[in-house]
Amino acid sequence: MKQKDMPVSQNQEYEMTIEDISVDGEGIGRINGFTMFVPGALPGEKVRIKALRIGKNYGYGKLLKIIEPSPDRVVPPCSYSKQCGGCSIQHLSYNAQLKFKTRRVRDALERIGKITGVKVHDTIGMVEPWRYRNKAQFPVGRAGSSLAIGFFAPKSHDIVDMDRCMINHQINDKIIEVIRNFIQKYSIPVYDECAHQGIVRHVVTKVGFKTGQVMFVIVTNGKNLPHKDKLVELLRNNIPGITSIVQNINSKKTNVILGQENITLWGQDYIVDILGRLTFKISPLSFFQVNPVQTEILYNKVLEYATLTGKETVIDLYSGIGTISLFLARNAHKVYGIEEVPQAVQDAWENARINGITNAEFIEGKAEVVIPELVNSGLHADVVVLDPPRKGCEAEVLEALARMAPQRIVYVSCNPATLARDLKLLTEHGYEVVDVQPVDMFPHTTHVECVASLKRKHK
Ligand code: SAH
Repeated sequence: MKQKDMPVSQNQEYEMTIEDISVDGEGIGRINGFTMFVPGALPGEKVRIKALRIGKNYGYGKLLKIIEPSPDRVVPPCSYSKQCGGCSIQHLSYNAQLKFKTRRVRDALERIGKITGVKVHDTIGMVEPWRYRNKAQFPVGRAGSSLAIGFFAPKSHDIVDMDRCMINHQINDKIIEVIRNFIQKYSIPVYDECAHQGIVRHVVTKVGFKTGQVMFVIVTNGKNLPHKDKLVELLRNNIPGITSIVQNINSKKTNVILGQENITLWGQDYIVDILGRLTFKISPLSFFQVNPVQTEILYNKVLEYATLTGKETVIDLYSGIGTISLFLARNAHKVYGIEEVPQAVQDAWENARINGITNAEFIEGKAEVVIPELVNSGLHADVVVLDPPRKGCEAEVLEALARMAPQRIVYVSCNPATLARDLKLLTEHGYEVVDVQPVDMFPHTTHVECVASLKRKHK
């Protein structure tokens, strides 16, 4: 189509009504039947926009004016919300965010999974949906000639300087202040991504919400970190709860934040936190759910849907550091965790030991390799828990599980689209989806976590 025949012309202004929110949090509506994405606009709003990029099937508009605002619109409490891509729906009231998430899950199940009539429960939200993250990562560099510690602007590597983030634990505000003072006072060179020069690349922090323990990780381009004793002194004097100060070395030209080598500058090389009745060791490189309050709710849902009596054999696939395995172990006869990252498997064994759990075993390997092998060797599980990464499960995993034929499957998912695809396959292999419970682990973002319970239809 020639530009003049397009239903929407670039750089023209239009009035339009927003109908929905995209998975990235943009408003979606139509102009002359043509789909437009408008960041910052909300469903039900009448807005004035300027058409920017126009593609073949859809375009993007810049929000110029809200003519009729949505009753769900709120003023974002964070002053960086427009510059930062982190919280893409902070301008939507929290209640409306939860409704949007429930709808997103239901739509995915219906459209992708062809699953209708399943009870998708209301999304479980947080009582206090701020300051919920136990892990924070701040890029360090320059913005023009000034020091910048903060976040990357959306779709770029420009660092926006900031002094506080309302979804990270409060202690981070103080940590940013301390690291800023340290860099300025001792003229520590910060990293320049383009030139691959300078020293300080990132600051990563982890906080045990129940224990109050704080880990500080400074990521450096190479081993050299001048005045590190002063950094230790500043952190120890100013950060209550600090128990671990680590230098992480990342000399690669990469977007990956952490390198593989850690040097403990002071204290322990891990922190400890508590979930339910269990204690977990968290190292700089290990995965731990970032919202501990909601994680407890999520894991308790898994436990409820697993309906264990103490006699069952359970498989926890994609087990990470063994959190779900250990949550279930007390109520099961035996739990097998399966995980591909060797360090995570080691942490899982260590976590079992710390908690005195002896009926959990961890197998290192890819789910799509290990599960078919276990089925062929004749292992039968009564309950299987799945918690795959965003891309969901490989079809081999689900097909092998169908042959193993556990009574119940509990599927934990951070991506409704792949959840729906995988549930479709399981329903075609003799399973029925009983309940789906979304849990809000990431307030003010469009991400949604779900637990689905399935039972086998025939023996
Ligand atoms: N259940 C854990 C971890 C979930 S994250 C928790 O709640 O903390 C998903 C995990 O799956 C990660 O630890 C990742 O390393 C692992 N993983 C990813 N692909 C895998 C595969 N193909 N086989 C086994 N594990 C995999």
